[in-house]
Amino acid sequence: MSARLDGNAVAGLLGELVGRELTLATGVCGSCGASAFVAELHVYLRAPGTVVRCPACEAVLSRIVEGRGRVWLDLSGLATLELTL
Ligand SMILES: [Zn+2]
Repeated sequence: MSARLDGNAVAGLLGELVGRELTLATGVCGSCGASAFVAELHVYLRAPGTVVRCPACEAVLSRIVEGRGRVWLDLSGLATLELTL
């Protein structure tokens, strides 16, 4: 597995996709219910693709794969993602 980074490693890409700054958005883990800022999440690049894990239980929260001019965004491990308007 690739080296672990923090959520800042994906905040830029996710922010581009949703058109908002996401560093301080709050994600709630669908497995353990822990909440954390996106900046605090655990990120593994080239895992393959990008894998975002819960800092409390290491469950997969999100997978991001880019290729052929497209992005596949899997947020199925998140219960919610709360953004400030
Ligand atoms: Zn968790």
